[in-house]
Amino acid sequence: MDRKFYGKLVVKGKIKALTGLHIGAQRDISEIGGIDNPVIRDPSTGLPYIPGSSIKGRLRASFEILVNSTLDELKNKYPSLANYNAGSCMSEGKENCGKFFNKRVTRGWIHVCRDYNTALNCPVCRLFGASGDETNFPSRIIVRDAFLTEEWKERWRRGEDLTEAKIEVAIDRVTSQANPRTNERVIAGTEFDFEIIYNVEDLKHWQDDIKNLFTAMKLLEDSYLGGSGSRGYGKVRFIFDSLELRTKEYYKGEAEPIKVPVKEKSMESIVKDFDELFSEVKKTLKIPEAQ
Ligand SMILES: [Zn+2]
Repeated sequence: MDRKFYGKLVVKGKIKALTGLHIGAQRDISEIGGIDNPVIRDPSTGLPYIPGSSIKGRLRASFEILVNSTLDELKNKYPSLANYNAGSCMSEGKENCGKFFNKRVTRGWIHVCRDYNTALNCPVCRLFGASGDETNFPSRIIVRDAFLTEEWKERWRRGEDLTEAKIEVAIDRVTSQANPRTNERVIAGTEFDFEIIYNVEDLKHWQDDIKNLFTAMKLLEDSYLGGSGSRGYGKVRFIFDSLELRTKEYYKGEAEPIKVPVKEKSMESIVKDFDELFSEVKKTLKIPEAQ
């Protein structure tokens, strides 16, 4: 394994809940009265937050579905995917399929490339990582836990309720009996700070990887985060604040980060104007001319 380091691209911004958001916690009956499904809270502050693993999991799942649906196009671009067969490999419950195996995650299934070289050429695994019994391809992205923004922490300090209890009624199909349960949700409008760090390890990959990350974020906006998405929970929007390249020289204290002007730009416009916005980054992370 020969991993290189060319720098880190650090993306920061806000995740805004457009509808109520429920990221479930382990239930602790002694603490919560009347709520069947509480939201997860930061134990040090008691405030709701979004674990980075939840964001990353949903980004991966959303992007993986797109990759499966546009496989023919992708096979031309990534020759290693030639044997990748979405129909047989990705179907739920089929765990073993040649170069890939399917792994059960909280909500559904993901595929994991079996060996290092397959993962390296897979648009999903090389971005989000592939870890299983036989492979370990470390993820190129780190998604930090998303805590409330200062504004929303201040609202909490002033005594505002940041969560609500919502009663959902499930009907038992056999007995027709209504079975009401109380879900705790973070209220619509709440904002969290997010941070995603991408490790630049390959000068040929980073542009595609970053565009794929934005695509995954866009797909997640049209899907949901957390539980009860089919009931309308968990619609979120990503709002960009900053994106910068931190080079090796930056970490040695010899250079400033290279800033990409993305503030409050839409995902579409960033992808559309990618070459222009990333022009300075591209000069730094360019593939050396062949000798
Ligand atoms: Zn893969």
